[in-house]
Amino acid sequence: MKTKVAIIGSGPAGSSAAIALSKKGIPNILIDKRRTIGLPVQCAEFVSSGISSYVDMNSLLSAVNQKIQYIYINAGNKTYKHAGSGYILNRDIFDLNLSEKAVQLGSKLFAGSRVYKIDRQKNCIEVLDVLEKIVYEIYYDYLIIAAGPNNIFKSYNSHGESYIYALQIKTELLRKLDSVFCYFRNYIPYGYGWIFPKVNYANVGIGVEKPVSDVNLSACLKKFADELKSEGLIGSEVIEKTSGLVPVSGLNDLISGNIVFCGDAAGLTHPVTGAGILNAIISGSLAGDYAADSVKASKNFLNDYKEEIESIFKKSFLTACEKRYRLYPLMNDEYGISKNIKLLWPSFEEYYV
Ligand SMILES: Cc1cc2nc3c(=O)[nH]c(=O)nc-3n(C[C@H](O)[C@H](O)[C@H](O)COP(=O)(O)OP(=O)(O)OC[C@H]3O[C@@H](n4cnc5c(N)ncnc54)[C@H](O)[C@@H]3O)c2cc1C
Repeated sequence: MKTKVAIIGSGPAGSSAAIALSKKGIPNILIDKRRTIGLPVQCAEFVSSGISSYVDMNSLLSAVNQKIQYIYINAGNKTYKHAGSGYILNRDIFDLNLSEKAVQLGSKLFAGSRVYKIDRQKNCIEVLDVLEKIVYEIYYDYLIIAAGPNNIFKSYNSHGESYIYALQIKTELLRKLDSVFCYFRNYIPYGYGWIFPKVNYANVGIGVEKPVSDVNLSACLKKFADELKSEGLIGSEVIEKTSGLVPVSGLNDLISGNIVFCGDAAGLTHPVTGAGILNAIISGSLAGDYAADSVKASKNFLNDYKEEIESIFKKSFLTACEKRYRLYPLMNDEYGISKNIKLLWPSFEEYYV
């Protein structure tokens, strides 16, 4: 089959690209290996209120689990409270709603379909329908790769190889919270622990950069959860467990010929915080816009996408990478953590000095 723009991945980046394309009337096909878009959830689900500039959150009410007012940073025996308004999402519903919106606007969605090969000579992707076990080809004018972190197409855009390895449980929350909490501990090296509330539940996780850190993730998460239990914050029952990778090397190549990369596939997670949902939406929307303009004008405008993404993210990501690599090695004990936290974490004014 043929389409103007094929999009690999129907996470926030890919669905945002499809929405942008369909709004401009450009035929597009979204392909995702997941049979149900949004599942499994591999996310702590916090997004800043800045998302409202890009997504009408009032139309996605069931995708919002609860609102957040503050972010607490617990580091070196001190706790800092910062303004940090945002939402805890139901990521499964959020991702599904975005893909449904794309379909309502005219995108075609093939779920349960794994793209296993790109033929760049023929401008064609080869797809396996996972359920039916049939393979088919989709020919495209432009291809958007929104396939998440460490995807099988990473050889097409040079990738940094540093990832946060994250492990998270969903558990019972014993106190109502209107804030997200990040914990810096010497037993969570090159990373941090978090507790993000979901009304009566909480996402509790740790993420550490590998290979620089060689901690055992399960043991590290257990120790962190035990600490939260001793504070009376969470119960013992593990309701769900998830894991995933977060790229922290900064921007990858953003375009290659008629291929454009967005979201985690473009390395657009913040190199210190690991936040990537909003950046996936911003970059996906822009990727869709520039691909649409290119189709309409029969002229490749993807370099403008690259320039716009770089103007938004490059400087701040370079700063964040530099801080990550300079400061984390100094934060291996309580003294190092308390001395450096304000320089490392972007909600402190000192970060920007
Ligand atoms: C444990 C964890 C916690 C996190 N917590 C937060 C948080 O609280 N806040 C935040 O902002 N960010 C968080 N992130 C990061 C955030 O989840 C990502 O930045 C975001 O999901 C990126 O969106 P995306 O659309 O680029 O990629 P994804 O959401 O990963 O979507 C990629 C899609 O591509 C599909 N795909 C991949 N390969 C193929 C293929 N070959 N064929 C077809 N389909 C394919 C996948 O099935 C998937 O649906 C977290 C990440 C992890 C791992």
